[in-house]
Amino acid sequence: MLHFCAPFVIYSVGTMAQKKTIKKRLQKDCVVCGKQMRVISYIDRSYRGGHYFGKHPLFTDEALAEAHKAGTHEEVMGGRVIHVMNKNPIPYDYAEYWECPKCYWGARYPKKDRQESGFLG
Ligand SMILES: [Zn+2]
Repeated sequence: MLHFCAPFVIYSVGTMAQKKTIKKRLQKDCVVCGKQMRVISYIDRSYRGGHYFGKHPLFTDEALAEAHKAGTHEEVMGGRVIHVMNKNPIPYDYAEYWECPKCYWGARYPKKDRQESGFLG
């Protein structure tokens, strides 16, 4: 009982034991399989329970079409010519991109490779 009331958890990484203070517990949906995962974030900005890829802007088709219509212009950056959009599409929202551990590792290590290398996590 006391264990669950403690404001921090102790877990071990290899032979090293670390004390971390939990900032909050989050419920996130995996963007790949839709499964819910429990993510624990710590005050040192680390987290566990899922894999976070940052915030991605979401655009409507209209916003993208409008930005395309405005065309591009050339700019020199670091000695290279790049094409820059004249108008940036305006995102209507930002979505957090989370993957559950299963999808994260599954995509990077296809089952066949995992079995061959002996990695089954
Ligand atoms: Zn998933």
